[in-house]
Amino acid sequence: MTNKLKYFIGNWKMFGDPSSLKIINQIHSFCGRFKSRGKKNKIILCVPNTLIYFFTTKIKSKFVSIGAQNCHHQKNYGSFTGSVNAMMLKKTGARYIILGHSENRSEGDTNQIIKKKIESALKQKLNIIFCIGETFKEKKVGKTLSVIRRQMRSSIDKKYNLNKIIIAYEPIWSIGSGKIPKIQELKKIFIFIKNEFKKNFKTKVSPAVLYGGSVNDNNIKKFSSISEIDGFLIGGASQSSKKFIDIIKNYYK
Ligand code: PEP
Repeated sequence: MTNKLKYFIGNWKMFGDPSSLKIINQIHSFCGRFKSRGKKNKIILCVPNTLIYFFTTKIKSKFVSIGAQNCHHQKNYGSFTGSVNAMMLKKTGARYIILGHSENRSEGDTNQIIKKKIESALKQKLNIIFCIGETFKEKKVGKTLSVIRRQMRSSIDKKYNLNKIIIAYEPIWSIGSGKIPKIQELKKIFIFIKNEFKKNFKTKVSPAVLYGGSVNDNNIKKFSSISEIDGFLIGGASQSSKKFIDIIKNYYK
């Protein structure tokens, strides 16, 4: 196990109200204690838009950052009922944003729309957690690598500030299902993503690449043998401070 920076990012999805501040506070106190033991971790909680301003004004935490989960692709204000754009999220206090999540792709986000969202978020200097991943059907017919290659190539441009992009590999069949990929297969996919990124976007270093999909406190240890994994995007289990904290603890056990 290396001392390389690891990301533990929570995706709260449609969960939480102002009383959920206690979850953030508990994670914050844990991080304060844990960091002092010499581990380099970045903890980010991507919460519903309704909570971003409240949380960022209540917690002045150097250990926990707050992010958003999606945005409208238009950069400026416009007639899009119920939507918010990257500028509004940035002004509300978000520092990170998840884009390309499969739950948003299934509601119509194409690679092209995601590209526009990435551009608008980069304009606001938000850090992007860009989700890619294949369906079970695509996996079965051996299309995993070609699907994720297409997702990266069609939504990212080498002109972008690539330091602001974190990739989250999230096989769609794994999200919320309790199923995780075989460790050897996952290692190959991570090596592929990192090489593909360097080759296609002409960078010397690859971005941080995270794994997401049914990560919990019981299975987290399995991932620690893959040195290419730079952290985790955690959905359901991040809605409980105990589970989220146990994931971090058990990863380092
Ligand atoms: C997610 O939605 O990004 C996710 C990883 O969900 P879960 O951990 O619940 O599978």
